[in-house]
Amino acid sequence: MNDSYLNFVNSPFGARLARSLGLPKPEVLNRYRADRPEFDGLVAIGAGRQPHLLEALANLVTSIGVTSVAHESAGLWVPLANRHGLMTGRFEPAESGSHGKLTALLFDASGIEDSSQLEPLHGFFHDTLRSLGKCGRIIVLGRPPEACATPRQWTAQRALEGLTRSLGKEARRGITANLVYVEQGAENGIDSTLRFFLSPRSAYVSGQVVRVGVRAGADALPAFDWNQPLEGLRAVVTGAARGIGASIASVLAAEGAHVIGIDIPSARDALDSTMRQLNGTALAFDIAAPEAPAQIAAALDEQGVDIVVHNAGITKDKTIAKMTDAAWQSVIDINLSAQERIDDALLTAGILRDGGRIIAVSSISGIAGNLGQTNYATSKAGVIGRVQSMAPHLRARGITINAVAPGFIETQMTAKIPLTIREAGRRMNSMSQGGQPVDVAQTIAWLAHPGSAGVSGQIVRVCGQSLIGA
Ligand code: NAD
Repeated sequence: MNDSYLNFVNSPFGARLARSLGLPKPEVLNRYRADRPEFDGLVAIGAGRQPHLLEALANLVTSIGVTSVAHESAGLWVPLANRHGLMTGRFEPAESGSHGKLTALLFDASGIEDSSQLEPLHGFFHDTLRSLGKCGRIIVLGRPPEACATPRQWTAQRALEGLTRSLGKEARRGITANLVYVEQGAENGIDSTLRFFLSPRSAYVSGQVVRVGVRAGADALPAFDWNQPLEGLRAVVTGAARGIGASIASVLAAEGAHVIGIDIPSARDALDSTMRQLNGTALAFDIAAPEAPAQIAAALDEQGVDIVVHNAGITKDKTIAKMTDAAWQSVIDINLSAQERIDDALLTAGILRDGGRIIAVSSISGIAGNLGQTNYATSKAGVIGRVQSMAPHLRARGITINAVAPGFIETQMTAKIPLTIREAGRRMNSMSQGGQPVDVAQTIAWLAHPGSAGVSGQIVRVCGQSLIGA
């Protein structure tokens, strides 16, 4: 769907008018394009005391080919960084003419053990934020508070959330800010996550807190090519005929997966056409039908599957006093119970291979609740519960399960929302605009990535840091 306000204020006349009237000017977000370099520019790196992730960061910046520069406030860290050959020079703050020069700010806060040690965060972001260009990236790295040895350390690490979320709200200009908590021992498993948050692929993901844990099993990660990481893998996507599901199918196929798209029989033509373009396979099933789990399992049995994306979903909005039992039941059944039944069928028979991925589509309605959506929010909060409860059980098989929770995404579902509510939904986030289906799809592709084996039980919002919900 077209956001005509965003297009208008980014035209020369509209930009002048918006400036003179003091109207918000949402940035045209820099999204991933295969014909442009994914990473470039100058990345500033800062650190608190005794950072633990320096080596991993050094390897990352080298492997993606960006130039890095240390910030003075890193203090103790500078000699350490020099030892790793990370330095190319010292960062010059904005006052000395480097405005907009940086493409990303990375801060390793993993060694901070006490609130009295938080000061370098102020020094670093105070000096660098104004030099971060449009659609730049901020990533703060820490240790999961709940795994900290002392209450003081837990407190200091938890404090990073407030900083990161505030940076996202202050930075504007299409800049994202995210916090990655890295469990001790997971240092060598953070590349797919850091690449995602540094890349234009995460254009609409901001204000998120993600945990990377030690992945299950001692085996080395399967070899993969960063350009085609899903090569040789099979992915099932429900609700693939249109909207977000069609975009998920397309991104997973572009990453090398063979996609099996499922949608209702009445959407067969659209499904066939989407799958034909992707050299995928179309299965016309109603996922809520009692026979669907067995039918899907039978269709996948021979070759198995590596990635399952539960995207199909419906809304039937009414306040609860006016909501019929049928409207309640169908939303819960399609959005939640069908996922449980399908996963049971695929997991019990081993059709979803060990080391596989389950990714479910929740919603910020499931986090914050929404007027007129008791059925929908119940189903989407249930999806979050499923992810959190199943993650530990699936660990032994090396299967990860995560959810994405989209905010306002421009699709046929949101086109049905009345104009004034739609306009509010679009603007009430740090990006002042709705997201695109591809934003959700790229987030799912990161979670499906072979390198994301240590990311499980996470709920990642794709909402431009919506003001709704925590
Ligand atoms: P959409 O209505 O455009 O597409 C949903 C697809 O699911 C359709 O192709 C539909 O035919 C299919 N589907 C519905 N019921 C099915 C069933 N019983 N069996 C098989 N397929 C079925 O919606 P969308 O906006 O692309 O949403 C996709 C997912 O994202 C949904 O789970 C939705 O709840 C979620 N979501 C969307 C937004 C948004 O802003 N668009 C926000 C939060 C969450």
